[in-house]
Amino acid sequence: MSAERPLIGGHVSTRGGIDKAVDNAQRIGAEVFQTHPTPAQTWTPLRLDDIVLGVYKEKFARAGLRGHYLHAVYLVNLASPKAFLVKQSVGSLVHYMQLAERLEADGVVFHPGSHLGAGFEAMLPQMGAALREVVVRSATTRPLLLVENSAGSGGCIGCSLEEVARIVEGAASDRVAVCFDTQHAFASGYDVHTAEGVAHTLSELDRLIGFDHLALVHANDSRRELGSNVDRHANIGDGEIGSEGFRLLLADARVRRVPWILEVPGETQDGPDLVNVNRLRACAGRPPAQPEAVAAV
Ligand SMILES: [Zn+2]
Ligand SMILES: [Zn+2]
Repeated sequence: MSAERPLIGGHVSTRGGIDKAVDNAQRIGAEVFQTHPTPAQTWTPLRLDDIVLGVYKEKFARAGLRGHYLHAVYLVNLASPKAFLVKQSVGSLVHYMQLAERLEADGVVFHPGSHLGAGFEAMLPQMGAALREVVVRSATTRPLLLVENSAGSGGCIGCSLEEVARIVEGAASDRVAVCFDTQHAFASGYDVHTAEGVAHTLSELDRLIGFDHLALVHANDSRRELGSNVDRHANIGDGEIGSEGFRLLLADARVRRVPWILEVPGETQDGPDLVNVNRLRACAGRPPAQPEAVAAV
């Protein structure tokens, strides 16, 4: 397989079993993929049995895929002033990190959450302690815990790169890194649509977080305008960031180094598809993906 960068893929469904995600990734021409192994709106854990795990690993190896990231459930909120919710969030992330280890996945992406009015500074030490607890309790060796920047809304945490940087700093662990979502950045005022805006955003990423702490990009165009604070993803080239914004971002070797995962609606609203994978590949100057027929198992 080519060592061209960036590796490009998308979020895919695990309906029918985690091994089905591999088929779905292959179908859209992905080199890397992301999943919600459990329903994103519930705390229900996944009982992954060894037989399914074996099928998954075999399919993954055969497909020549290059990476798998898990996306934590949306209920996770390490900044909550409610102790029981923080405890539940830590438990859920520990479970996900352990799932990621068993799947030999690369990381678990989570949203920093909301302080619900208590304020960022007040909740920061609690977040650092919670992240350290996840790393220690999960006792994993491989997956990274990835803080995703937020689009920004009431009580939002991590809508600025400063806040994301301070969360990572507060965790004081080399297992905690960053996932940069292009739509969330645009919604929170980072103008990744223009050359000046891209240059500014990348220099802020470098200065505050450091590219050695950037592990993943979520590649999403934006249905809403710059600074809207609204989380609405558009297909690549159809939104306010536009193909030019992605070309500008992808021109930088420091961001091409990490995998890019689409979380866009897709042409038929079924999620990331081959059309969008290939639009992003075109922005990166890469030839279209030629997905092979998925082998029947
Ligand atoms: Zn996310
Ligand atoms: Zn995202």
